[in-house]
Amino acid sequence: MPDIFVHGRWESARDGGRREIRCPADGSLVAKVDEAGPKDTAEAIESARTAFDDGPWPGTQAAERGDLLGRVADLLERDKAEVARAESLDTGKRLVESEYDVDDVVGVFRHYARVAGEDAGRVVDTGRADIVSRIVHEPVGVCGLITPWNYPLLQTAWKVAPALAAGNTFVLKPSELTPSTAILLMRQLAEAGLPDGAANLVLGAGAQAGAPLAEDPRVDLVSFTGGLETGKRIMATAAGTVKKVALELGGKNPNVVFADADPETALDFALTAVFLHSGQVCSAGARLVVEESIHDQFVDEIVKRARKIRLGGPFDDDAETGPLISAAHRDKVEAYVADGIAAGAVLRCGGERPTAPALVDGFYYPPTVLDGCDRTMSVVHEESFGPVLTVETFGSEDEAVAIANDSHFGLAGAVWTENAGKAERVAARLRMGTVWINDYHPYVPQAEWGGYKQSGVGRELGRAGLEEYRETKHVWHNVRPTPQRWFGG
Ligand code: NAD
Repeated sequence: MPDIFVHGRWESARDGGRREIRCPADGSLVAKVDEAGPKDTAEAIESARTAFDDGPWPGTQAAERGDLLGRVADLLERDKAEVARAESLDTGKRLVESEYDVDDVVGVFRHYARVAGEDAGRVVDTGRADIVSRIVHEPVGVCGLITPWNYPLLQTAWKVAPALAAGNTFVLKPSELTPSTAILLMRQLAEAGLPDGAANLVLGAGAQAGAPLAEDPRVDLVSFTGGLETGKRIMATAAGTVKKVALELGGKNPNVVFADADPETALDFALTAVFLHSGQVCSAGARLVVEESIHDQFVDEIVKRARKIRLGGPFDDDAETGPLISAAHRDKVEAYVADGIAAGAVLRCGGERPTAPALVDGFYYPPTVLDGCDRTMSVVHEESFGPVLTVETFGSEDEAVAIANDSHFGLAGAVWTENAGKAERVAARLRMGTVWINDYHPYVPQAEWGGYKQSGVGRELGRAGLEEYRETKHVWHNVRPTPQRWFGG
């Protein structure tokens, strides 16, 4: 079956190619998919443009748009097993994690189903009886949505749901490594009754299938989640046609642990913060910033527990985390670890590919702890995006804040202490879009998500997510126009 979805039809690539999708856990073939070339992407953009300019979706009542998103949530719940399995095969992540992800995706669609009809606009009081003045919200137009491979469907939902809630049409370009759940979502959108052309899907590599979404003047907004360097390129390209730009980029997130934190809980969360999904999480707590006085016992215990983390594929019930996404990504993670060691970091555990027969065909890399790190090391200030924890120490509250903030990223971070005043003081000084106090990783669709500094432009989720996809217009209606006779005429 063809995999490019344009104007409600599944089509084969005209000038693109075919790609084999392989499971990162064992290299097995998952699917062969069509990849878009320039003609395919241009056709998808034209479909979204026509659907926006002439189709019914932008003019559909907001409450009806919300109803449709609610039906998509129902379909995702119905198809949960199939969707979770597809996500696990593409990403290699444990099935149970993919199931959590589908639940999250349902939550995102339900959230935008609720808020789609809220805040329809407002009347502005001009104090004049002859003027009706009002603020209305309108869709931006055609949206180019570009997503990464680590949470493929969830990142897609964070864009598709608010874009549709606001009445836009879109072309989605998921990561070339993980296209399967985007294909399933297109089917569900069609089944839920979305008009032809409102949703379009192109698969393929960024430079071929994705770049036109930032370039093409028929696209009004480009929303991208992915790496910093790609984000910079997209922002520069989008400037050519002054598109609206939303960017959710990387992070190198500090997990700050004070000596007065509850040790058992802080330890447990420090492990999850960095090793969940083998560290392939934008908000991963990959920088442990720990108070000097507890450094030795805290890090010893982390190392002891990290060594015991069991690796395995999506359907291995004993596995605690899975493989990295690709051979190239594992090479990158290894290179960061080698750079850190060369710069003086102490390898406390991990650092070598596993040799167990069950793991050698996958792209596994073990939980790795590098002690004695500092901000000059690339493994500390750049995103390795793997299961690599770097350890830095501090002596005072001010120093903890200074070390944590010493990054060009500002996505997320956490502070651990039983002292409520200190927790609030530090949280207020951390320059990050999300700060957890005595917790790590939770998010809710009702709250905003976005980065300070080079971690992003704009916000996703909550009400702000919807605002990214809306234009706001002031309509001034003179209900009793009379000649002004300014020039005497
Ligand atoms: P990536 O930047 O390599 O690719 C992301 C997407 O961009 C893919 O679909 C890719 O094909 C496409 N792309 C690549 N070059 C392009 C171009 N020139 N024009 C248009 N599209 C292009 O990132 P990745 O490796 O897929 O994902 C990992 C990154 O995503 C990490 O840096 C991670 O921090 C980030 N991320 C951020 C968040 C967040 O919320 N801030 C969430 C998840 C992932």
